Amino acid sequence: MNTNFALIGIYLVAHAYGTANPGPTACTNLTNSLGVEKVISNPLNLQYLASTEDYWNALQSDYKPSCIIYPKSSQDVSVALQSIRASGSRFAIKAGGHNTNNFFSSVDQGVLIDLSSLNAISYDPTTTLAIYQPGSTYGDLYDYYAQFNRTVLGPTLGGVGTGAGLGGGLSYLSPQYGMACDDFRELEVVLPSGEIVNASSESYPDLFFGLRGGGGNAYGVVTKYTVQSRPVGEFYAGNLIYLFEQSDAVADAIRDFMQYNPDPKASIIATYLKLPTPDLDLNLDEAILMFLVYDGLDPGDVFNNFTSIPYLLNTMSAKTYPEVINMPIPYLAQLSRGDNVFRVGVHQVTDNSYKAALNAWRNWAETNKGRYELLTFDFEPVPESLTEASNAQNGGNAMQMPAGPWYWISYILETPPFMSQVDYDAVQTSFKEMVDSVGNADGLPLFINDASADQNPLSTFSTFAELQQIKNKYDPDGFFTGKTGGWSFA
Ligand SMILES: Cc1cc2nc3c(=O)[nH]c(=O)nc-3n(C[C@H](O)[C@H](O)[C@H](O)COP(=O)(O)OP(=O)(O)OC[C@H]3O[C@@H](n4cnc5c(N)ncnc54)[C@H](O)[C@@H]3O)c2cc1C
Repeated sequence: MNTNFALIGIYLVAHAYGTANPGPTACTNLTNSLGVEKVISNPLNLQYLASTEDYWNALQSDYKPSCIIYPKSSQDVSVALQSIRASGSRFAIKAGGHNTNNFFSSVDQGVLIDLSSLNAISYDPTTTLAIYQPGSTYGDLYDYYAQFNRTVLGPTLGGVGTGAGLGGGLSYLSPQYGMACDDFRELEVVLPSGEIVNASSESYPDLFFGLRGGGGNAYGVVTKYTVQSRPVGEFYAGNLIYLFEQSDAVADAIRDFMQYNPDPKASIIATYLKLPTPDLDLNLDEAILMFLVYDGLDPGDVFNNFTSIPYLLNTMSAKTYPEVINMPIPYLAQLSRGDNVFRVGVHQVTDNSYKAALNAWRNWAETNKGRYELLTFDFEPVPESLTEASNAQNGGNAMQMPAGPWYWISYILETPPFMSQVDYDAVQTSFKEMVDSVGNADGLPLFINDASADQNPLSTFSTFAELQQIKNKYDPDGFFTGKTGGWSFA
């Protein structure tokens, strides 16, 4: 259908229906403009069910969109945004569905824009640029680019969606190349007005800046990414698993690695993990899971501080990049969809905060047995090589990352299913108080990919005032602010 006629139709239908039922009104309009095959309103439809089930925070699956749309082009997204605006409906943009915050990628009685059908991927061997639409998971992207011995930077688990890049994107390769968003070269964006633009360091540079680590659903919908790919060959990588009696020794080794490791090809993520099983003094309810990754087959002695501590299991071996991403089988089994929430902390390496944070978390875990299914505490190092690489590209990202080393702590709480609202609220408040009690380092940004909405992470960015201006420029009448979830710019 001619787009202009479609939009006139949208306008007339919206006015005829009024705004009493904005969600269903938007869905009727969308069915007329996009066609029935791209709009599903039946909550029993299998595709509808798959979209609403596929949230890493299972509580988001309780919400029932009036319809789910599956755009196949940026034009579809443009028509959709204009239609949703005209109806006054709420909406949400969903890529991989891994953000745990309410209404960030879920919506109740509004329009869910599911980007999964917008999933073209290609590679240009001349420029080594990777070009992809937002509907793939990062695991799909890693698998695809591996055939060219290349990859794109992205999260350390494959199921996470492309929204992770808009939030910054911390990768095993970040110590070498910066954050995932630092490799962005051009983004096709459908603005809240419906206009389709290409943002890069030359064109719409302010929009390009905000979308590199400042989050997704604030300035528009990204419908195509053009990204610098990176070479990958063989890795020496694996997990070391320790009993908690090694807790302090491992924490000291992590601190030393964060402070002194000289080799950007070496990367670690450290997960302390608590299960709901009773303690019984057997230490079977807890474990430490190290992810050690070296880009190349000879790590020298960079991981010796870890391998010299007695461990339960060592799976270090030669691996391809997709194997690196898939390596933590016990971790994947545990760290799965459930009633999950994230919180984040940011700390200097040198101030002993790592011990205080770990102790606060362990004490909370002991005193709250029975109130969680799974509890994890991750050290996520931000070495100086990462911040240098970040700031060397495109003038740095929306975080304008201060010189490393420093680190984020990612906290995950999975509560048992079917908790009463009162118990759920109480455990969330208590968990928040524990994280807050640790405090944060001044002048360092909270990582939005790991943050809870109430932590207001954008306000910790040195660029906050600039981001507020960019938000006001591209969403001048507050359409996104008022009608979809997302980070606060207030
Ligand atoms: C198990 C697990 C492992 C993780 N590991 C890492 C990691 O290693 N590194 C890391 O950096 N992060 C990691 N994360 C955090 C992850 O990056 C964030 O949860 C991220 O928001 C997920 O993106 P998504 O596309 O899967 O989720 P969604 O919930 O679909 O999207 C996230 C947000 O971005 C918006 N958005 C998505 N796509 C677009 C678009 N095209 N245009 C506009 N807005 C958009 C959505 O509206 C939503 O607000 C992990 C999360 C989980 C649950």
